[in-house]
Amino acid sequence: MRKKIIAGNWKMNLDINESKQLIENIKNSEFDKDKEVIIFPPYVFLQLAEEELKDTDIRLGAQNLCQYDDGAYTGEVSAKMLKALGVDSVLVGHSERRTIFSENDQVINTKVKQGLENGLRVVLCLGESEDIREEAKHEDFVREQILKGLDKIEAKIGQLIIAYEPIWAIGTGKTCDPKDAEKMCKFIRDQLASLYGQEFAEKTRILYGGSVKPENAKELLEKENIDGALVGGASLDSKKFLDIINYEV
Ligand code: PEP
Repeated sequence: MRKKIIAGNWKMNLDINESKQLIENIKNSEFDKDKEVIIFPPYVFLQLAEEELKDTDIRLGAQNLCQYDDGAYTGEVSAKMLKALGVDSVLVGHSERRTIFSENDQVINTKVKQGLENGLRVVLCLGESEDIREEAKHEDFVREQILKGLDKIEAKIGQLIIAYEPIWAIGTGKTCDPKDAEKMCKFIRDQLASLYGQEFAEKTRILYGGSVKPENAKELLEKENIDGALVGGASLDSKKFLDIINYEV
């Protein structure tokens, strides 16, 4: 039985007081402890979040990491620095990094490697654009992303989490039909089985992301191959985020 993950990607939002308040609202509320909760604040609030989350089961995530170990990389943050700060998981290959910051599969592959080698769990984000979906090439596209993103990566069970996030559903309010999201998550699981074997695939959590909100969480998260949600906009509102965590309650 795969434990569901509800992850909140705050992106570049909130100030320091709002961040503190949001964490306090979440940690001081009743929520379903059968879910694993991860929050991904901006880098500058990671230390604050780490202090706030001490003595809770809520895990801390970073939205990005540098593909290099250390050295002259102005403005970058290494996997080692994140680990030392108490970060548990890191997002790699989010579509905003791929499109706005031109991260290609080779950079993403190096970032996956950096994260895993430094003891972070990596949440590898995958997903097609609207054009690719309309041409019905989404499976081929996502397969390529998996093969290139995970090229020569030796992952142990539990170290890797996948987030299927169709680009056309991110921040648009347009959610993927739960049946289509389930089909893609199953497709991704089959690709993982080919790469790492059946046991690895069965035990790896595959999340759906793209306009998840309290109104659609249950229908998505009840699907057999959808093991959680990566939530953007709705994770900035503690009530909405908690309602998504408590979708079964
Ligand atoms: C995301 O940024 O990963 C995301 C899924 O955003 P939203 O929930 O706002 O669509």
